Amino acid sequence: MNQTASAIMQKTEELLQAESFKTLQQATPKELHYALSKAVMAQIHSRWTKSEENHAAGKRAYYFSAEFLMGRAVFNNLYCLGVLDEVRKALEEKGVDLTMLEEIEDDALGNGGLGRLAACFLDSAATQNIPLDGYGIRYQYGLFKQYFENGFQKEMPDDWQRFGDPWSIRREEESVLIHFARQTVKAVPYDMPIIGCRTENVGTLRLWQSEAVHDFDLALFNEQKYDKAVKERNDAENISKVLYPNDDTNAGKRLRLKQQYFFSSASLQDILRKFKKQYGNDFSKLPEVAAIQLNDTHPTVSIPELLRLLVNGEGVAFQEAFEIACKTFAYTNHTIMPEALEKWNVSLFRSVIPQVYKMVVLLDRHLVEDLTQRGVSQEELAQYRIIDGDLIHMARMAIYASSATNGVAQIHTEILKNDALKEWYALYPERFQNKTNGITQRRWLGLCNPQLSAMITELIGDGWLTDLEELKKLEAYQDDENILKRLNQIKLENKRTLCDYVKREEDFALDPNFIFDIQVKRLHEYKRQLLNAFSIMDLYFTMKEGGLKDFTPTVFLFGAKSAPGYYRAKGIIKYINCIAELVNNDPDVKDRLAVKFVSNYRVSYAEKLIPAADVSEQISTAGTEASGTGNMKFMLNGAVTLGTYDGANVEIVEQAGEENNYIFGARVEEIAQIAPSYDPKTVYEQDPRIKRVVDTLIDGTFDDEGTGMFRELYTSLLEGASWHKADNYYLLYDLKDYLDKKLQVNHDYKDSLAFAKKRLLNIANAGKFSSDRTVKQYAREIWGLL
Ligand SMILES: *Cc1c(COP(=O)(O)O)cnc(C)c1O
Repeated sequence: MNQTASAIMQKTEELLQAESFKTLQQATPKELHYALSKAVMAQIHSRWTKSEENHAAGKRAYYFSAEFLMGRAVFNNLYCLGVLDEVRKALEEKGVDLTMLEEIEDDALGNGGLGRLAACFLDSAATQNIPLDGYGIRYQYGLFKQYFENGFQKEMPDDWQRFGDPWSIRREEESVLIHFARQTVKAVPYDMPIIGCRTENVGTLRLWQSEAVHDFDLALFNEQKYDKAVKERNDAENISKVLYPNDDTNAGKRLRLKQQYFFSSASLQDILRKFKKQYGNDFSKLPEVAAIQLNDTHPTVSIPELLRLLVNGEGVAFQEAFEIACKTFAYTNHTIMPEALEKWNVSLFRSVIPQVYKMVVLLDRHLVEDLTQRGVSQEELAQYRIIDGDLIHMARMAIYASSATNGVAQIHTEILKNDALKEWYALYPERFQNKTNGITQRRWLGLCNPQLSAMITELIGDGWLTDLEELKKLEAYQDDENILKRLNQIKLENKRTLCDYVKREEDFALDPNFIFDIQVKRLHEYKRQLLNAFSIMDLYFTMKEGGLKDFTPTVFLFGAKSAPGYYRAKGIIKYINCIAELVNNDPDVKDRLAVKFVSNYRVSYAEKLIPAADVSEQISTAGTEASGTGNMKFMLNGAVTLGTYDGANVEIVEQAGEENNYIFGARVEEIAQIAPSYDPKTVYEQDPRIKRVVDTLIDGTFDDEGTGMFRELYTSLLEGASWHKADNYYLLYDLKDYLDKKLQVNHDYKDSLAFAKKRLLNIANAGKFSSDRTVKQYAREIWGLL
């Protein structure tokens, strides 16, 4: 055993003995998790301290994000330390099974892709020795837990600290005060280590928790003070109580704004305090030593807050403060969905943070002067105003007062430049950049797919772990029958592992010999889970008629949470669960067709599902998915993509070859062209196959238990509603092509070697999609590091 692993083992045993008077064999999962995690924390303590000094030594970058979807830390941290296998073996020798820690909750302080991206970036920066640290909110409750009742989604609170939080260190002494109009709270930092792989570097994720300023205990013996203290405590704690379970829409609530301001102000105060200690009061130096990346507009209130801290707090002139802000901040745009572009009502904003609103007014005035000088006419000005009538436009603020605005995939950045933000691109073309998203190969290959990792390492060495472009060397094996067979064998074994897991989690039996066709991501109309559902109904009907005789048995797996208030998305979940009920119990088809909606999709579930996938469903309407990162995880694990020309799918097939994937549907230009005259009703009426599946929403095939959900879905497709057009996401338009491609995949799968070659070429060409590459691009091209 190597030294680190044995030190960790010894410390774990000591801690168990000291904390609970137990041996390894006696420990519960919670106790083992706590002791083992604390043992790792002790092990990395000195390199963590040293890393903070290194980060402070030169220019550094900060990632501001309202979400960090970290997943379960313990396995990943052992893996990145390079001791996972050794610790597992050492425990095994003592009769202890490390997999019992799968009971430990994920850190689910994020909704989906945006939060997971933040987590992947921290991992990559730590590994690549980039001085990047994260700032966010320590929500008491993360994303809700999902379960199904009669096929309907139900939510439960996610008490993620139920088993303790051994990976965080509370830094009481670095607390700061946050002032709202009628409330002051204390922001207390909790630091989590981000352990780099094959490096001594350890990054920091600092999450702020909101607490009352006054010591509650002092009020215990005075009834009047007591009531007041209870109220103060509850009001303060409410701010970091819960993550908004909203993937992409502006929750529009006072509390959401308070959350955003809370962590923005706390993080900036922290940064300025460190700056002053090190460099004194010449704030013009700030951009030389600090870069701040705004992950979407959620932390954009940081811009006027920095102005306020500099102007009111430090006596810096507004113009100078503005220039400092412009050079310090950069902004990442994640969506062009109009409902997701954050705007705050002026009166709300003003009533919550009046002192910050003053800076917004000055910023808006500065913008008007600036643009007027640049010759922008009065009529044109309106489209740029930060304060536009009674709304504050956060994206406009972020673009105006920053050095760079980036999209997250080539196609997305092009849409920003040519469409969504074209007026801004016209003003500041040099500020627009692309940074195609990525994923960390440590978690999404090394950790989650040990067998595939081992085979890759055997063939090309283990350099891929920190340099994913190495995978290209696998192309040499594209016609090696032996390797292709092994690749299929590993897939089969991963399917078996998933079958066991699904059996345990859902009490549902899957057959590992089926094709595993998987769509996992947040539930949203634009992601078109309903399109997938329709295609399954078409397969079902065709089989019932005696067709599809040579269809390779396929299970369609879904995993997705819907925002609790997103009625239509919840209707889609119920509909898919009805399909599952029908198909799985029909003796005519159940040997060839299965459908399962797994519950509570989350990072740790993704780690089981993705290595077992044959087909990756990435079927959003062209132009709607900014990038996607799920698509990259599947590719890296040897699934073929069945998808549209959208987001990073475009780059995936550019890298891996269209012949190794299955692209269908209208492209962005085509949709733009047909949009004005698109009539889904005609498509529906003219194609009996399409009519047949859509009609299952209303013809009594399924029962939505009187909720009217299915009828509403039907109407949304054929009639539309006041706030959107009929079939807003072009499901019926793309359905035919989708069905054809789906059958094509099924047909191609029969030639197992040819299919394995497609798997291999996808893996071999996934190098571009490492978040190591993405973060290095940010570091070089935006932050001025490296
Ligand atoms: C990667 C990931 C996502 C993002 O998936 P997309 O398909 O890109 O939307 C969402 N949730 C979890 C748990 C993930 O791991």
